[in-house]
Amino acid sequence: MTKNTKSIYLDHAAATPLAPEVLEKMLPYLQEEFGNPNSIHSKGQSAKNAIENARRDIAKILFCKPEEIVFTGGGTESDNLALRGILENSTAGKSHFIISAIEHPAILRTAEELAKRGIEFTKIPINKNGIISVSDVEKAIQPNTKLISIMLANNEIGTLQPIREIGKMIQKINEKPKTKNQELIFHTDAVQAGGILNLDTRHLKVHLLSLSAHKFYGPKGVGILFVKKGVKLYPQVLGGAQERGLRAGTENVAGIVGCTEALKFAENSRKKEFTRLEKLRNYFIAKVLREIPKSRLNGDSENRLPNNANFSFFGIEGESILLRLDFEEIAASTGSACASGDLDPSHVLTALKIPHKWLHGSVRFTLGKSTTKEDLDFVVTRLKKIVKDLRAISPLV
Ligand code: PLP
Repeated sequence: MTKNTKSIYLDHAAATPLAPEVLEKMLPYLQEEFGNPNSIHSKGQSAKNAIENARRDIAKILFCKPEEIVFTGGGTESDNLALRGILENSTAGKSHFIISAIEHPAILRTAEELAKRGIEFTKIPINKNGIISVSDVEKAIQPNTKLISIMLANNEIGTLQPIREIGKMIQKINEKPKTKNQELIFHTDAVQAGGILNLDTRHLKVHLLSLSAHKFYGPKGVGILFVKKGVKLYPQVLGGAQERGLRAGTENVAGIVGCTEALKFAENSRKKEFTRLEKLRNYFIAKVLREIPKSRLNGDSENRLPNNANFSFFGIEGESILLRLDFEEIAASTGSACASGDLDPSHVLTALKIPHKWLHGSVRFTLGKSTTKEDLDFVVTRLKKIVKDLRAISPLV
């Protein structure tokens, strides 16, 4: 076995490193072009132009109009603006919305908060492969349903949801609504799909779509919400007219420029990188399942993000595996970064109905630009030993 001479980062679903080319494009807006985009003078106007150019570039990738792009403070904020923006404006007690059981806490927690105010929701379950069914969503629609929010790709198990098919179903209903004035709004949390999947909003048939820059080699604390023309949102942050009044506050100019450059870079090599990652992921999954006894893959083996491999190892704790991996300078995760720290098993694995003795032994590996086959070979060698050692002291095995 060769010694690991570099650290191996397999947690790209939590955060990606800022690409050097992106940093280079951001620096002028942190230094000489520091003007406030809301100022009339030329330094201000230069910052404003940078934002409007960014909006145009993002619109090209999302196949929408520049004025349909709202820059936010990240994926969580985009999700909150989508849900609260549609639902808080409606009369409490009269509206209903639909989400899936495996949404990110940015959606789940917001939904629970809205429910406390009498805006009820239905949670759509997943099948044993971690995918929801279009007909389950259709059946859950009520005369007072206003919003449907289903993620494009899951952050823990990477499964891809049938967004276009749900979008088509919603479009059909909206063309012939059963009750007068009902227009269903469709939101997708595409945070894990940014830079990896096609983000064509016309193809996906969505009204709202959330993204976060730090998932595609951009800076943290910048997000995007696509808001289809005609969709009325109730703003969540008040105090200024920025972002067409939908998100008050002086814009994060360098962040917006960085987010845009990152998405452009990702888009240029997206298809090639997809194929490369998918090959590596399949190789890694096959090797782990073959070489480590009592291991299982969580989520569909094919219909998942090309960089996601989430395993359960019978009878041991995922956290213990992570600590031992970290000791070897291998970074992975047990679930979403935001949820780890909780001792409860992840809501996604619980929704998959994984048997108890497997539930706590999950580890998520998410590959990225820097990942090589050699990295994965090394990880499997170490993982094999770690799992064996931990099982030797586990009371469950
Ligand atoms: N939605 C999903 C699916 C995510 O994976 C994440 C972050 O991991 C978020 C939303 C939140 O994004 P941010 O970290 O930019 O707030």
